[in-house]
Amino acid sequence: MPSILVVEDDDAIRAAVQRGLREREHAVATAATGLAGLEQVIRDRPDVVLLDLGLPDIDGLTLLSMIRTASDVPIIVITAQDDDPTMVRALDSGADDYVVKPFGTDQVAARIRAVLRRGRGGAAAAAPALRVGGLVIDERSRTVTLDGAGVDLARKEFDLLHLLVSRAGEVVTKREALAEVWQQAYGGSERTVDVHLSWLRRKLGESAAAPRYLHSVRGVGIRLVDPTGTDPSDSADSADNADTGD
Ligand code: CA
Repeated sequence: MPSILVVEDDDAIRAAVQRGLREREHAVATAATGLAGLEQVIRDRPDVVLLDLGLPDIDGLTLLSMIRTASDVPIIVITAQDDDPTMVRALDSGADDYVVKPFGTDQVAARIRAVLRRGRGGAAAAAPALRVGGLVIDERSRTVTLDGAGVDLARKEFDLLHLLVSRAGEVVTKREALAEVWQQAYGGSERTVDVHLSWLRRKLGESAAAPRYLHSVRGVGIRLVDPTGTDPSDSADSADNADTGD
């Protein structure tokens, strides 16, 4: 459940947004002043901030910059009037999107969904490639190389491999994979995971009977291991070299 912080000094708007977003299954916290909002961003690390630009204690654009120095949280600014220069400055100062008052909760909810989707890409953009043995997985470019050679994966195969690599050495249950990769925390068939796992194995040149990276732990899940047994930090250099050779 995404957590939203609403920073808005107008009691009626704040209450209406809070009510509307709670009805849409968001965890909503509110702040009536800019400084209280900044404090909450740092302390509570919300998933999205809705920020009114017209606050009593601090200029909204200044506050926006202050939040940006402390956090990468997606920020949707709220403004009273359709004021283009302010919008441009807000977006330039690091706002992700904006809504103009008066607005409906449906619109805000849609914009929250959009920044959360983009936010995941943004987080990935900053993330370095993951390396386990000869396997390098880069979420930015969504590319995988094995011992320097490109591996062509379908979307869900990539997502599953990324999950396993990001938790290398740990057992990932099929239920967790269904929740993370297929967004099926409940329901869904573990067979889906099995099928993708078998495709992944084939593309990585291994099999369930002769595993290298992908090890099934019977009745529990899958564990991705480094078959070369080297420390991941040791293999980083050789993987880099392999990359530049492309
Ligand atoms: Ca205001």
